[in-house]
Amino acid sequence: MEPEIVFEAQQDPTFYDAVAALPEGERLRSCLQCGSCGGTCPVARILQHTPRRLFAMVRAGMKREVLTSLTPWVCSSCYACTVNCPAGIKITDIMYALKRMAIKEGLQPKESDANRFAEQFTDVVCAHGRASEFEAMMRYMMFSHPGRLLGKSAVGLEMMGRGRMPLLPHRIQGLESFRRLVARARELDEVKP
Ligand code: SF4
Ligand code: SF4
Repeated sequence: MEPEIVFEAQQDPTFYDAVAALPEGERLRSCLQCGSCGGTCPVARILQHTPRRLFAMVRAGMKREVLTSLTPWVCSSCYACTVNCPAGIKITDIMYALKRMAIKEGLQPKESDANRFAEQFTDVVCAHGRASEFEAMMRYMMFSHPGRLLGKSAVGLEMMGRGRMPLLPHRIQGLESFRRLVARARELDEVKP
């Protein structure tokens, strides 16, 4: 990994407080920089920054570097780091919060468009009340990689043949209530600092 040099003028002194104000963010101030999080993470090998390093960057006001990091998008939400953190930091929840912040700020990792897939996936869940892998994948490929759609079709067809990816989405009962719930949650998220 190439070393990051960030000059003081590029740092955002308000960023640490902004992250601390997120749900479960305040505990971040207790980070001991012990590294247990990275040591227990099953995907540490492919994380751009371990949680320990990412939180040190938050503390240093490296807003752009944190919000464009691949780490929150690669995190598989297994909660191993959260369970093992001696400071009781809800690391996984902070990863989600950083993703929401990155989307709001219009920032995304340079090396990946995982955030676009996440947005398509969320839209599908909002439309049906549950996930539809086929629709999420189709939307993502059509909007982000239309030229690769044909090349991936063999995998999709095989999954469908094995009953692992139904063509039609299943809708939940009470879909309207679910949509109202999501709309309210988004409204609340908007008014947060
Ligand atoms: S395990 Fe917790 S205290 Fe230790 S570096 Fe990670 S976040 Fe900080
Ligand atoms: S929740 Fe994410 S960061 Fe934490 S151990 Fe699991 S994959 Fe790693």
